[in-house]
Amino acid sequence: MKLPYDVSPLHVKYPQGAEKQLIKAIANREVPGGGLPMDVGCMVHNVGTAAAIYDAVAFKKPLVERVVTVTGNGIREAKNLLVRIGTPYSDLFAYCGGLKESAGKIIMGGPMMGLAQFSIEAPVIKGTSGLVVLDEKQSKQRRERACISCARCIDVCPMGLMPKLLGAYVKHNMIDEAENYNVLDCIECGSCAFVCPAHINLVHLIRYGKSQAIKRHKKAS
Ligand code: SF4
Ligand code: SF4
Repeated sequence: MKLPYDVSPLHVKYPQGAEKQLIKAIANREVPGGGLPMDVGCMVHNVGTAAAIYDAVAFKKPLVERVVTVTGNGIREAKNLLVRIGTPYSDLFAYCGGLKESAGKIIMGGPMMGLAQFSIEAPVIKGTSGLVVLDEKQSKQRRERACISCARCIDVCPMGLMPKLLGAYVKHNMIDEAENYNVLDCIECGSCAFVCPAHINLVHLIRYGKSQAIKRHKKAS
């Protein structure tokens, strides 16, 4: 049977796993700004979700465990583990040989989009796809400098946004202007902040701008 889309392996590039990028790469369809995959006839589930749906439907098994990747320079042995939800991170680290002396920051999720964690006693939740343990050197906060208008952030943005402008608008609490420049379309991939030579935390600003815009919408409705 010939499928109406390309099923050959995708190029390794970041961010390829985001649903809008996957839909473009596989089906060559573009989800409109502010839209959803269903607007272009698509639905995207990751493998873990698909397996959990199968377990629930076929075996009436609720979501009680998930696969968690434990990795990074600060962990002794990187592993993929099948873990009960609610297990504290400290148990996972112990199973992976423990943290190295040089361990710095712990990130829940991937290195680009994950969230820093404050305690190794935090539990695995259904969204804990991975734990990345950075070493001290990688965890150092770099000093932010003034924007030099190099446009690198614009070049790398997979959503065609202007991160420099969005960050500046949010900094000055100009949320309406940020929304006019599609702040809500940001997928928080982190690419803009990663390439910024001035070390401006663009994702942090944009994430805050999105939360403010959503708050305003909720208040108005
Ligand atoms: S990458 Fe950084 S310095 Fe360059 S334009 Fe964007 S915000 Fe400014
Ligand atoms: S995080 Fe930056 S690069 Fe990624 S989608 Fe948002 S604005 Fe674009």
